[in-house]
Amino acid sequence: MFKPDTRITEVKGIGPKKADAFKNINIETLEDVIFSYPREYEDRTKVRTISDLKDGETVMVTAELRRLKKGRYIRGRKTPTTLLVGDSTGTMEVVFFNASWLEKSLSIGSEYWFFGKVGLRNNSGGISGAPVMIHPQFGKYTDSESGESILPIYPLAAGISQKERRRLASAAVTAAGEYEDCFSEEFRKKNGLCDLEYALKNIHFPEDERHMKVAKYRLIYEELLLFTLSLGYMKAGFSREKPGIVLSKARFEDELTLPFQLTAGQAQALDEICRDMEEGSRMSRLVQGDVGSGKTAVAAKAIYKVVKNGCQAALMAPTEILAEQHLQTFNAFYKGEGINVELLTSSASASERRGILERLSSGKTDVLIGTHALFSSDVEFARLALVVTDEQHRFGVAQREALSHKGESPHILVMTATPIPRTLALVLYADMDISVIKDKPAGRKEIITRTAREADRPKAYEFVLRQVKKGRQVYIVTALIENSESLDVRSAEEVFEEAERYFKPYKTGFLHGRMKQDEKDDIMGAFKNGEIQVLVSTVVIEVGINVPNATVMVIENSERFGLAQMHQLRGRVGRGEDQSYCFLILCSDTEVAVERSKIMEETSDGFIIAEKDLQLRGTGEFFGARQAGAPELRIADIIKHTKILKSAADEAKKIISEDPLLDKPDNVRLRRRIEKLYGSTEFNG
Ligand code: ADP
Ligand code: MG
Repeated sequence: MFKPDTRITEVKGIGPKKADAFKNINIETLEDVIFSYPREYEDRTKVRTISDLKDGETVMVTAELRRLKKGRYIRGRKTPTTLLVGDSTGTMEVVFFNASWLEKSLSIGSEYWFFGKVGLRNNSGGISGAPVMIHPQFGKYTDSESGESILPIYPLAAGISQKERRRLASAAVTAAGEYEDCFSEEFRKKNGLCDLEYALKNIHFPEDERHMKVAKYRLIYEELLLFTLSLGYMKAGFSREKPGIVLSKARFEDELTLPFQLTAGQAQALDEICRDMEEGSRMSRLVQGDVGSGKTAVAAKAIYKVVKNGCQAALMAPTEILAEQHLQTFNAFYKGEGINVELLTSSASASERRGILERLSSGKTDVLIGTHALFSSDVEFARLALVVTDEQHRFGVAQREALSHKGESPHILVMTATPIPRTLALVLYADMDISVIKDKPAGRKEIITRTAREADRPKAYEFVLRQVKKGRQVYIVTALIENSESLDVRSAEEVFEEAERYFKPYKTGFLHGRMKQDEKDDIMGAFKNGEIQVLVSTVVIEVGINVPNATVMVIENSERFGLAQMHQLRGRVGRGEDQSYCFLILCSDTEVAVERSKIMEETSDGFIIAEKDLQLRGTGEFFGARQAGAPELRIADIIKHTKILKSAADEAKKIISEDPLLDKPDNVRLRRRIEKLYGSTEFNG
């Protein structure tokens, strides 16, 4: 008899060596197995004859292998192997890339099953106009393999086969009745959810498509409910903690003179922040403002108010470069105000650090700026009233929590440029209040954005060179670091080497994700102070970096970037007086890639871009994996399942408002699940 805690080695066919491979993907017991859901299914009940194939459908076809055609190897391109297969109604092409091994393992004249997505138009690598399947699942057709059933397909990892995955799953579902359903029968009825046992059985081995959908809906709903519930639960815990330091209602924030007038959006955000801090309960607020909307100035004024109240503030940036940038900005803003701003980074020497910490704990320092190192345990404030986190992209519940436990009970302000549509933000940041800065400082020049095809690249680069000759600086961003034979993409190395030659005698720098942080900082520093004119990088360019002299952003293989990402990258230019430009070098003709490029040319409004991004994703196009900053979810996808997310969030809100501590008998099971999933009960005080 299998139990949830049965180790997978107890299942026939899983030895210690296999178990190690499974351990790598965090699977050790049957409980781990049952909660690792299939990625998709082979719906072998949907068997089609070739003449019946419809465009875009994912189906099963059984056919005889008639011919195998190997494509020519071209460096830098994917080499296709094309199978011509047929049944009594017609022929189909099956294409595999870089799969020369196929030739040896298939035999002409044998029957195979192919399970995959059908492309009918001749735009998917086909050579004869026949229907095409690219990289389908396939296997030899035998009676036992061809039963009409729906089989799970699991994500695989090194040393693990689909067969082993399935064997474990079928062992695990025999114990599906052993898990506690966190939903009461009443709740399930009300929300149209099946019970957990049914869900677990049918998510792995569905009887039919309908059973699978019912199971899937329940599990997605559960995941999203628990997630939003955990946020609400945390928020409830947060406000039960000690109140924040109450600031005086005196409008100190108006006394700080900045070199510019705040925009209406900035003024409103500042107002909301100040009112929060005057109220007594702890502030937990997110300021969402597009790149360049001037979030730093808002923080500077809020912090000014805090300091004028005799308190301290901390500002956390994701990198040292950004921390230093903030130090300069704040020193300029506070010039002549007698406010002590200090920087704490890991590059401070031991004695420097001692001095910084001393001045901080004695209250001499008013504002401490730094990276997450700010929150190591020896950093003690005298009277910390506000913690500002800048450009917090990652959705870090744990991180936010750690922050809020620092010092007394400081107000929390998070500033982000991630353009999440408001509807989604309301759910994702349910534990925070939100201010949105919609407008931008007046007089900003629009960044001129142009799509360039591969053939236009030389012309685009000539333009870039002219900008460099004028004394401007340039970013060139690429999708990949290294050459990869299998992909049709220019690597950063390749682009860097070319750029270095092309832009001589101007200097080109290279920044990539495998570099150490201090190496990255050195390169970024050299770019900032103008020693380097052209910066080639993978997408590691710091969000938030401000180099006003940089006027050109070139994105190579722009088809590989999501809209939100391109928007962020483009936001690195257009920060100074000069007209700025963005070139999207598009090496693909797919509809979505072209559409994205067009949107980028047409608008620079991050919120519009975010909405369009959602729409495009909504059509089933899947790029850039999950929304940056989204939580780890096993089966739900906040982009695809926005509707379920909303109804789950509503339900969560109701539950929390009636029972903020999740103490009621019906809710205790929910609380147990949340604590298991999201850990820590620290905020439960
Ligand atoms: P972000 O919101 O992306 O962090 P920053 O705070 O870096 O934007 O501001 C971008 C630039 O705009 C800075 O150079 C800043 O001094 C300037 N700026 C901010 N607010 C205003 C304003 N109201 N009027 C004019 N310039 C402004
Ligand atoms: Mg910023």
